[in-house]
Amino acid sequence: MIYASVVLDIPTRAIDGAFDYALPPELADTVRVGSTVLVPLGNRQVVGYVVALSEEPPAGIDPAKTKPVSQDLAAPAFDEGAAAVARWMACEYACPLADAVRPFLAPGQKVKVVRDAPGEPWRLVQDSTGAVDERWAGLTPAAADFAPKKNAPRQRAVIEALAQGPQRVAELAATIPGAVSAVTALAKRGVVAVETRRHVRGGAEATSLSSAQAPRPKQLTAGQKAALAVIDAALEAGAGDVVLVDGVTGSGKTEVYLDAIEHALAAGRGALVLVPEISLTAQTVGRFRSRFGDDVAVLHSRLSAGERFDQWDLVRQGEARVVVGARSALFAPLADPGLIIIDEEHEGSYKQDKSPRYHAREVAARMARERGCALVLGSATPSLESLGRCRDGEYRGVKWTRVAMPERPGASRLPEVRVIDMAEQFRGGGRSVFSAPLADALRETVGRGEKAVLMLNRRGFANFLMCRECGCVPECPHCSCALTYHERGHSLVCHTCGRCWPVRAYPDPSCSCPNCGSRYMGAYGVGTQRVEDELRMILPEGVQVIRMDADTTRAKGAHQKLLEAFDAADSAVLVGTQMIAKGLDFPEVTLVGVINADTMLKLPDFRAAERTYDLLEQVAGRAGRGERPGQVIVQTYWATHPAMRAVEGHDRELFLASELAEREDAGYPPFSRLGNVVLWGRSDKDTRAASAKVAETIRENVTGQAGWEVLGPTDCVKARAKDFFRRHVMVKAPVDADLGGVLGAAAASLGAPKGINMSVDIDAYDMM
Ligand code: ADP
Ligand code: ZN
Ligand code: ZN
Repeated sequence: MIYASVVLDIPTRAIDGAFDYALPPELADTVRVGSTVLVPLGNRQVVGYVVALSEEPPAGIDPAKTKPVSQDLAAPAFDEGAAAVARWMACEYACPLADAVRPFLAPGQKVKVVRDAPGEPWRLVQDSTGAVDERWAGLTPAAADFAPKKNAPRQRAVIEALAQGPQRVAELAATIPGAVSAVTALAKRGVVAVETRRHVRGGAEATSLSSAQAPRPKQLTAGQKAALAVIDAALEAGAGDVVLVDGVTGSGKTEVYLDAIEHALAAGRGALVLVPEISLTAQTVGRFRSRFGDDVAVLHSRLSAGERFDQWDLVRQGEARVVVGARSALFAPLADPGLIIIDEEHEGSYKQDKSPRYHAREVAARMARERGCALVLGSATPSLESLGRCRDGEYRGVKWTRVAMPERPGASRLPEVRVIDMAEQFRGGGRSVFSAPLADALRETVGRGEKAVLMLNRRGFANFLMCRECGCVPECPHCSCALTYHERGHSLVCHTCGRCWPVRAYPDPSCSCPNCGSRYMGAYGVGTQRVEDELRMILPEGVQVIRMDADTTRAKGAHQKLLEAFDAADSAVLVGTQMIAKGLDFPEVTLVGVINADTMLKLPDFRAAERTYDLLEQVAGRAGRGERPGQVIVQTYWATHPAMRAVEGHDRELFLASELAEREDAGYPPFSRLGNVVLWGRSDKDTRAASAKVAETIRENVTGQAGWEVLGPTDCVKARAKDFFRRHVMVKAPVDADLGGVLGAAAASLGAPKGINMSVDIDAYDMM
């Protein structure tokens, strides 16, 4: 008898883990690890996923009492290695095993089962309607000697149509009435052959962008060669080694990935490539396709359910050996990956914000070890976590190596960066969103027939009050973090200690700015529309201005069309939100302007400075990628901030020194791990009580252990959302602590109080 360990698709902490069932002989041939099955639970039937099979009866279980699996519902979506990773995720991220398994399932698979009539077998509901097969008809050699009868005009029409080459039967039917029966009749006579071809959706990502077909460079730079050598060694070692490619923007990281993948394919293995969703454009995909053709499958959220299923299935069938996709592509059913690549590894979007709340970098590291492959992380601004691990040379038992690519290939140089103090501009009478130097540079750039990119940072928008004259933002005197401005009640709130001031009373009623006394205090921020309008006023008529933000990119393909228009223009300005910071590679862009560099700096988030620095460095990297030199102008109210000074001097060490010192002082990552337990409910009182209980349980569990700190409970920054009251408990733990274990246990001990929702976020990114 074979026994199956099955995870039930009931994502609650109450029914967590895997349950044992017997596999009846008639299912033994088809059910594998990764299969979706139907199993009895009490007196109902539930969907589950097989995570292990064994010939031994499970320990401590009476084989006679083990219930049998009822039905096989869907072919395997994952293998044993993947099941091991899912089990690790459940512990690491303190989530139900059913949640941890879900990312590995076929896209579009619904867990609902239906049957057509009582007694009939159950089947899974599928969003994607599974694979699409199409029937194609073509003439056989026998057609040459065949003449249709006079009274068979349809057969004649079909033969004439097919003389041009094979066609879809459906297409024939659309143009020739009665074509379907004519095809059947002709097939019987052996004149026409009908074959079923699988139609793969989502493969075509047509693009007219020239750089998508970037030719293979004649020679790699010294940095590229060095990076490739280290990656090859890691690929060879097959031990889960991590290589951090720390290369400035435009240094040719993508070329390194392409060559490394080639080596993995030559070794008979596949490759997974993760790219932030936002930079997963036709331009990026095109570079992989032009090198690897049909060997590439693409997975991202803009595909329809059917397209996503087909691309995923290509991977499962072993037909595509290179997977390029967003975060969740990490879970594609690639049989033997030799290489996992995460581009822009510092990106916050690699952290999933719903259960399982995993970070792709961490799961990839685990997966690489499990599967004996190499993990390549690439960035111009690596995360402090990754840099720290490389400095140590080791993390969680595997080797972490950093390779630097400090130069761009050929004549291309890093752009010159200027930081403009906007408070000074304001004092000098400037009221425009453009400082004088930026306005001049824009006019000169388009005057030379070149292109410019303008970025408006929308994050943190209007969330705090700022003095227009000195740039001061009111801070909590007790916590030294920026006070959040709440329009309702016109008040300033500290989200660390909960204190609150009416705006008039801060810090005393007599003046507005606590620093300089100015009365020009206001919620800070402008929109892309206003930037576009002002831009048209300062530029000569006829210069194309292309705006790219959430509004103009809503429609499918809109993003792409805007980029193509920018590409095709002789000289143009692209105005956009942070979505334009990444991945754009237009050699004619010689000016990059940042309208408001500091909006994020004041967010109550310890990564605010790092995110600001990363974003500025990224967007600056869009300038001067071709032969002509680029310049970058950064407008800020905080010109002395280390992030600004570091970007200005291309001096990352300057930023790191100050940032690491602050993090160490405050006990934040990378010097600790940070967990965030959020509770929300419609009753303020119950939410308070539950959050207090969670905090107390965690405190009890960690008292006396060095390096643990439990903060709160306090209101979340978003203290109310959709009529829910939100409270949270933050936990700092030593870097090698089992944070998931401790927070998972505390969450479990709370049980499921009525009306209270809870999320446990390990290594949290979003603390709002
Ligand atoms: P990154 O991914 O680091 O931003 P890319 O791989 O996109 O950099 O390379 C930037 C530009 O430089 C691309 O247009 C690419 O075709 C070109 N390039 C990359 N490597 C070389 C090389 N060794 N020689 C010449 N051009 C190169
Ligand atoms: Zn405070
Ligand atoms: Zn002031």
